[in-house]
Amino acid sequence: MARFSKRVGREVLDGHPRLPEWITKERVKLGGLHAMKKDLRDSHLHTVCEEARCPNRTHCFTHGTATFLLMGEVCTRACGFCSIQSGKPRLLDPQEPRETAERVAALNLRFAVLTSVNRDDLPDGGAAHFADTVLAIRRRNPGVGVEVLVPDFLGDLEAVARVVASGPSVFNHNTETVPSLYPEVRPAGRFERSLRVLAHAKEMGKALYGEAFRTKSGLMLGLGETEPELMHTFEALAKAHVDILTLGQYLRPTRHQLPVKRYVPPEEFAELGAKAKAFGFQTVYAGPLVRSSFNAHEVAEMQGISIA
Ligand code: SF4
Repeated sequence: MARFSKRVGREVLDGHPRLPEWITKERVKLGGLHAMKKDLRDSHLHTVCEEARCPNRTHCFTHGTATFLLMGEVCTRACGFCSIQSGKPRLLDPQEPRETAERVAALNLRFAVLTSVNRDDLPDGGAAHFADTVLAIRRRNPGVGVEVLVPDFLGDLEAVARVVASGPSVFNHNTETVPSLYPEVRPAGRFERSLRVLAHAKEMGKALYGEAFRTKSGLMLGLGETEPELMHTFEALAKAHVDILTLGQYLRPTRHQLPVKRYVPPEEFAELGAKAKAFGFQTVYAGPLVRSSFNAHEVAEMQGISIA
């Protein structure tokens, strides 16, 4: 699920560890971003990248990648790390699939990432809406790669199959953290359920599209997880045939979210990334500012952009 932190830029400190230089330094590089922001403003287009102030915008935009939030900004869940509004979502906008496809064309993107809040209020959790948006993007923008970063659909495997059948290049579902921290970090999530969603997507995708189909998952570090717990989690994700793993630093959006327990230094990310890779993942992205759809475009290159 898209992680939302409207204040990635300004960490709330109230006695918690100060932002380390390896995070503050990275933000300085955002200087070149202003031109792109102006383009977006002038074109009245919004992306999750902008709204969540993602630290990787320069990188992604220059690679023709952006992330779009579907199904509104009110989530039926309340994860401990996320600043998105929880409550009763509005009705789905039936025009959204077509409008998103138009946005992809207007931004001349090579790779689009689609994500959403959790819609446990919908019978299929929003799976049909995701599928319609993938199909609309492919019709309007032939050759553009699409990654879906989806909720767990409450474990509804038919919903998973519906999304996979629409032909995304990458099926991403974040497990977010280690199982022992789920009660406070992701209370409405279930680690085993997320593994089943990822394993089923891989099985379906491989049957439909062959080896080119990729599954992906991501973890935030710095919430209190231990290394043995991380190793068990890497092993479980590898056993679910997840191809791509992202490891990034949790940053506290506001004082209403969970505090950062620890800032993991870049060299430790590199070590953990290497250890994760040893479990058999095809690709591991590990670093303080790595986010779910980090380098999403790279899959496009591996696949010759699209599989449909
Ligand atoms: S499911 Fe959790 S992480 Fe995703 S939008 Fe809702 S509250 Fe945020």
